[in-house]
Amino acid sequence: MPAPYQGGCLCGAIRYEVTSEPIAVALCHCRDCQYVSGGEPAAVVLVARNALAITKGKPKGYTVKGDSGKNVTRQFCETCGTPLFSDIESNPAVWAVKAGSLDDPSWAKPGVIVYTSSAQPWAHMDPALPQFPKMPG
Ligand SMILES: [Zn+2]
Ligand SMILES: [Zn+2]
Repeated sequence: MPAPYQGGCLCGAIRYEVTSEPIAVALCHCRDCQYVSGGEPAAVVLVARNALAITKGKPKGYTVKGDSGKNVTRQFCETCGTPLFSDIESNPAVWAVKAGSLDDPSWAKPGVIVYTSSAQPWAHMDPALPQFPKMPG
C-alpha cells in the first residue's frame, strides 16, 4: 500500500493518517481482541509509531494488562465504538491499527496469526500462514 493512507471511525468523528508503509499485518486471536472485534480475530496493521497522526477528533482509551505484564491501551471512538488502534507498551515503536478502520482495508492481507492458543474452536485459520500460540518473541 503506498503511503500515505487514511482511516477513521464509522461515524467520522475521528480521522487519522499514516505516512509510512505498514510493517506487518497480523490476525490476533487473543481473548481481549475477541471482545473488541465482536468475534475473532482482530486484523491489525502494525505501523511505525511516529507515522500515525490523528487528523480529526480524539479517541478514548481503555487500558488492560497484556500477558507480558505491560499495558495495552485500545483506542476507540466513544460515539460509535469503532476500535481504532492499540498502544502496546511492550512494543512502543508501533501502533497496531485495526484494519477495519482503514478507508481501504482491501490491501491489508494478513501475513501472520498470533495467540492461536486462545482462539475459539470454531475459528477459521489459513493453514498457509505462520501461526504462533502467543505473541512471537
Ligand atoms: Zn465514531
Ligand atoms: Zn489480540
